[in-house]
Amino acid sequence: MEATRPRIMTVYGTRPEAIKVAPVIKAIEASDQLDSITVVTGQHREMLDQVNEIFGITPDYDLDIFQHGATLSTIVARVLERLDPVLEEQRPAAVVVQGDTSTSTAAALAAFHRQIPVVHVEAGLRSGNILSPFPEEANRKITSQIAALHLAPTATSKENLLSEGVSPDDIVVTGNTVIDALLMTVEKKTTFSDPELEDLADSGRRVLLVTTHRRENWGGAMEGVGRALARLAQSFPDVQIVLPAHRNPVVREAVLPQLEGLSNVTVTEPLAYGEFTRMLSLATVVLTDSGGVQEEAPSLGKPVLVMRENTERPEAVHAGTVKLIGTDENRIVDDVSTLLSDPDAYEAMARATNPYGDGSAARRSTGSIGHLLGVQSKVAHWNAESDQ
Ligand code: UDP
Repeated sequence: MEATRPRIMTVYGTRPEAIKVAPVIKAIEASDQLDSITVVTGQHREMLDQVNEIFGITPDYDLDIFQHGATLSTIVARVLERLDPVLEEQRPAAVVVQGDTSTSTAAALAAFHRQIPVVHVEAGLRSGNILSPFPEEANRKITSQIAALHLAPTATSKENLLSEGVSPDDIVVTGNTVIDALLMTVEKKTTFSDPELEDLADSGRRVLLVTTHRRENWGGAMEGVGRALARLAQSFPDVQIVLPAHRNPVVREAVLPQLEGLSNVTVTEPLAYGEFTRMLSLATVVLTDSGGVQEEAPSLGKPVLVMRENTERPEAVHAGTVKLIGTDENRIVDDVSTLLSDPDAYEAMARATNPYGDGSAARRSTGSIGHLLGVQSKVAHWNAESDQ
């Protein structure tokens, strides 16, 4: 009789988690040693479903926790309450969570309560400020306290974990699975569903791609971002500003009113992941407060200006492709203007670097899970230095 394979339950709830666990789920599905169970919490709704569809993942369970205007505590409470019976029913050998969302920390806690080993994908990122990004810095630290296996994307994240007392035996440097997802997707050159974007791609116009959603930028800072974009649109009529607007109404109300009537600003719904990676590859400059975009854009050689005061992703800042500029309106206008008008400044930042991964993070992650459960041999760490 064939031995039963350990069942690995992956729990995720937002777009960025879905993008980053998709390659791991695919690798578990393809594995001879492990079985996959997928649970979505639905912390995001449409943006999550869209990613599952692109990667061909049909979740086994949908906790459907989404509620308009839910507080962080409500999200955490709902995940705990609804995941526990699923854990009881399925009794997985390990639970995989990714990153630092409320879903991921609540799911880790639910697994811990049942003494199921927690595997943390993208472990060890630290900004050093518990309030920024909020609540993510706290979330990821809490998960590190209870995880059994820490899959660190880079050597820096491994160092962060070691300095907090995590045993080196419980850490594997894998690279970031977002690079696996990007490489699986960007080559396909997905057609834009909006014909206006397809025309833009054909036109050869320069593109300033903007994303913003960070909770700590909500309110005044985000209104300043809107004003900065309006000023840039007027100063650079030859540049098209593309803003896929996050679904959160707080974000939309702060930024969008200031962009009305500007013909070289295109505000879209969130782009499906394939379309977004194509827009990234077309962009001249990227202006963002996103974590994932900070990791993807350097791989494509795009200069990234990050609208935050600090980052838990210092590697691309050191490599010179990412610059932290905060959210001051004048600073945003000045720094974007420099990149759009000074070729030397542009060339100095536009270098393809891969500090975040080589596209094999999912394979290392799955192998490490197999090793944790005693069904696979040890996996070698990813070494970014030898890759460059
Ligand atoms: N993304 C996307 N469509 C968009 C904007 C972003 O698919 O319209 C992807 C992007 O490629 C990245 C991820 O969403 O992988 C980043 O998500 P987000 O900025 O919401 O979260 P963060 O990374 O800051 O946690």
